[in-house]
Amino acid sequence: MSDDTEISRRTALKTGGAGATMLGILGYGARGVAAADAESGADEDREDSTSESEAESNREEFAFGGDLPGLLERNGLWSGALPEGYFEGVRTSQSPAVVSVCCSDSRVSQEGMFAAPLDAGFLFKPSNIGNKVTTRVDGERAVDGSFLYGLEVSGASSGVVVGHTGCGAVTAAYESVVGEAGEQPPGIEQEVAPIVDVVEEALDDGAVETDAERRAVINQLVEYNVHAQVEYLRGSDEVSEEKDLYGFVYDFQSAYGDVDGRTVLVNADGETDPDALRETVPDGYEEFVGSLLH
Ligand SMILES: [Zn+2]
Repeated sequence: MSDDTEISRRTALKTGGAGATMLGILGYGARGVAAADAESGADEDREDSTSESEAESNREEFAFGGDLPGLLERNGLWSGALPEGYFEGVRTSQSPAVVSVCCSDSRVSQEGMFAAPLDAGFLFKPSNIGNKVTTRVDGERAVDGSFLYGLEVSGASSGVVVGHTGCGAVTAAYESVVGEAGEQPPGIEQEVAPIVDVVEEALDDGAVETDAERRAVINQLVEYNVHAQVEYLRGSDEVSEEKDLYGFVYDFQSAYGDVDGRTVLVNADGETDPDALRETVPDGYEEFVGSLLH
């Protein structure tokens, strides 16, 4: 692709047009906005009812359904909104800038949070419950293959771990540790087990205020888990030293501030002190830094 093509594509994306349309349908389309307006009086009720479990939801209607017509309609919107040349330069290969691992939670927009759809090929994106970077190979802990592929094979320069407020996997791990958990199918138990280890460590360390309300305890554990995942990557021989490693928490419970959908930086290459992190972010982004553990 020529520089001119590149510039015109970026210009088109950034000056409204297709870019705005794409971001519009990624967030709230017209029908979504109408639904949100209708719901706006129910915020307090929703907060109360979702405080104990992320399984509960007051969302009664999606902009388009999850049945086949809805799926086709959604894809029609997506493919119709893509600007010409969207896949130029990446049709036959990829070289992502970033690999992120997010929780699979339906409220976590892995591509949306970093505006990844603006550029095809920007983000390599494994996800799993509890945003773990590890797996087990022959009984030994190892860096998760999907994450490692993005970082070391596809060649992303930044590796990012993103937890989120109100995480069900962290809640399940906590309930397991404090003896409140019911039995789970083995596949789920295997996915939650590494988070159980992290929660046990956090409680043993006295890292979280366990006498706080449940939601606050969980959100502290979410952040602790992000640190634990970043630390594992930092200590692994499989991860090249020159990679930048960041930890974020995606906030939609106003745990860190009042901006829904903000990724709050909690860890940069092992640095977790908010004052030090604020020194490392560009001017104007200090409010994107936070911690529930300091
Ligand atoms: Zn989660």
